[in-house]
Amino acid sequence: MQTYLVGGAVRDELLGLGVKDRDWVVVGATPEQMLTRGFTQVGSDFPVFLHPKTHEEYALARTERKQGHGYHGFSVYSAPDVTLEEDLLRRDLTINAMARSEQGVLTDPFNGKKDLESRELRHVSEAFQEDPLRILRTARFAARFQPLGFRVCTETMVLMRSMVAAGEVEHLVPERVWQEIQRALHEHAPGTFFQVLRDCGALDVLIPELASETDFHAAMNALHCVHANNGSTAERYAAVLSRLDEHTCKARAKAMKAPNDCQQLARLATAFAPVIRQLDPVQPSADTLLELLEKADFWRRTERFSQLTHVLGCTLDPAGRHALEALGKAAIAASGVDPQTLIKQGFSGKELGEAIRSERLARIAQATCCTPT
Ligand code: ATP
Ligand code: MG
Repeated sequence: MQTYLVGGAVRDELLGLGVKDRDWVVVGATPEQMLTRGFTQVGSDFPVFLHPKTHEEYALARTERKQGHGYHGFSVYSAPDVTLEEDLLRRDLTINAMARSEQGVLTDPFNGKKDLESRELRHVSEAFQEDPLRILRTARFAARFQPLGFRVCTETMVLMRSMVAAGEVEHLVPERVWQEIQRALHEHAPGTFFQVLRDCGALDVLIPELASETDFHAAMNALHCVHANNGSTAERYAAVLSRLDEHTCKARAKAMKAPNDCQQLARLATAFAPVIRQLDPVQPSADTLLELLEKADFWRRTERFSQLTHVLGCTLDPAGRHALEALGKAAIAASGVDPQTLIKQGFSGKELGEAIRSERLARIAQATCCTPT
């Protein structure tokens, strides 16, 4: 039995980057031998085990063949006679298909090291087309390594286009797509992820609302801005969908099965943008500002409100941002109203509610009156 370090760890080490998690492949072993050595088996689809001490993943060498569409459309063959090269052949990109033995010897049958040096993302074999998720993974690696100068090589882009044209992307389940998008949103150049998907046609399937050049670039500028401010996943996602109208945004975020906080923030941002654009930047009405704070559920969802202002700050034009500042001031002013003080003054029930509201209005009016342009 031989054990090899594979995939991302070998790639990152050759790039001189820190290695986060390490994956191993074991050649010449049976599941029974692994269990006898104290490994525990995880997952039922593949023969993958966890090391008893390090808890790192050890997979038995395997080959995969496509049978039908989708994630479960693979038949996996794993046995002690599967070679390291055969296992590497099933992998997505050449830079991810290298292995290092315990003695330190590099196995690189597809010239991954050369592609690392020439900064190219290249598919290992035609079998790449058997799993459309690889399109999203390739786009994600392009986003991660963009600062190092990596790009998708022409042959791989051609192959990805033909996969999209064959309708492969439609077979991906939203959960798997979301997982990739969520990771991509936090890569070094998240815009590159969407650009690669656009170049191969996959974006037209995943987020068709970004088809127009203008909308795409505006969304990417917003994403770039949120990324530069180190925004949350929800903020990044809301930036991507910021060019949609509220109704379309709600439907798209739901169809993509984004987590609730991402769906809500994206929808709120698209609902607020047109209203804020219409606010009078010099003297916005205190009523409208209070209504907006109520609509955003500001008092109960303070954190979400601040995320909302971050997104809008990245999507609005200068006049809109000016009006947004007024909303920020209104929020600070309105939060100064303490219901306890009013209760001590004798207010209760419906009257208390009215007193709180009119006090908030008065403070908002005072704080936002005559905002200098
Ligand atoms: P990361 O730094 O994000 O962990 P990674 O390359 O290690 O990057 P993993 O998702 O951890 O990526 O997968 C480990 C290895 O398994 C990859 O390097 C690649 O060789 C292979 N792999 C993972 N997913 C696929 C896939 N869908 N198709 C082909 N090979 C894959
Ligand atoms: Mg990994």
